[in-house]
Amino acid sequence: MSKCDVAIIGAGPYGLSASAHLRTLKGLDVQTFGEPMSFWSRNMPIGMFLRSGWAASHIADPNQSLTLDAYRESSSDYFSSPVPLERFIEYGLWYQRQTVPGLDQRKIIRIEHDAMGFQLFPEEGEAVLARHVVIAVGIGSFAWRPPEFAVLPNSLATHTSEHRDFRRFAGKQVIVIGSGQSALESAALLHEDGAEVEIIARSSQIRWLGGVVSRAIHSGLGPRISKLLYAPTDVGPAVISNSELAQESFDTSRRCAMVDRAPEECAHTPRPDDYVCRPGWRANKCPAR
Ligand SMILES: Cc1cc2nc3c(=O)[nH]c(=O)nc-3n(C[C@H](O)[C@H](O)[C@H](O)COP(=O)(O)OP(=O)(O)OC[C@H]3O[C@@H](n4cnc5c(N)ncnc54)[C@H](O)[C@@H]3O)c2cc1C
Repeated sequence: MSKCDVAIIGAGPYGLSASAHLRTLKGLDVQTFGEPMSFWSRNMPIGMFLRSGWAASHIADPNQSLTLDAYRESSSDYFSSPVPLERFIEYGLWYQRQTVPGLDQRKIIRIEHDAMGFQLFPEEGEAVLARHVVIAVGIGSFAWRPPEFAVLPNSLATHTSEHRDFRRFAGKQVIVIGSGQSALESAALLHEDGAEVEIIARSSQIRWLGGVVSRAIHSGLGPRISKLLYAPTDVGPAVISNSELAQESFDTSRRCAMVDRAPEECAHTPRPDDYVCRPGWRANKCPAR
């Protein structure tokens, strides 16, 4: 069984950055696992732009030399903010090649802890013994499908993260459930790809992520106050909602969807071709046990 001091599970921005930082510690043997930038390349829609601004989208490295600016300078194609998804994926892979060239792309399917440390079991090959483990697996395993959708087959009601390419919905009627950024952005991309889209949301108000005007106002308040309003990633200010999902129900026999509407109103909203995307994430299980 091979051994290391620290095993990092995850090769997205956080796992790669943690790895780059830990590798600067002399004598520390660090092993990093995971497919680089896989969540970004598999579970985010083609055509997407990053929500975080330029300054909030650098992947931190110990020398502060592997910034988005450095990547853009090294690349032949110019891009600017908002950062196109494909360019951010390339940036992450460029960062990985320089900081974690020996990345082990295997998935870890189980972790056991005993007096010796942590035993990590990859999908294939022998286990690895680590003294410490850093979990940086992101939110990909926590996509949440609310129980209200159990009456619909999986092929009809999908989570936004299941779609990389919305072109298969061209010419279809699609209902997008939710009014968070993922829902609204998916609705726009679905529309651009030729779907007929309706958004259903519980909230009476749509809260857009801070745009140019909002950012200018907040930066005018100075960095201290701005820090209180915006998360460090620049995505925010956060809104916390405690409302229940019980308001939503679906009548598949009529092929219609309703949210907080009287049953008789349902008849007025027939949907011959319903597809439902409902974004949301719940960290209620460990991706590697
Ligand atoms: C539609 C959408 C848009 C977003 N836009 C932005 C944005 O603009 N800016 C921003 O900062 N954030 C954005 N986010 C949030 C972003 O996804 C996370 O903040 C970011 O990906 C977290 O990085 P990470 O390294 O923790 O995880 P991820 O990037 O999700 O990486 C997880 C890594 O873990 C690996 N992994 C998972 N399980 C295992 C396992 N069992 N064994 C081995 N490896 C494993 C994966 O292969 C992958 O390499 C967005 C999220 C969504 C859904």
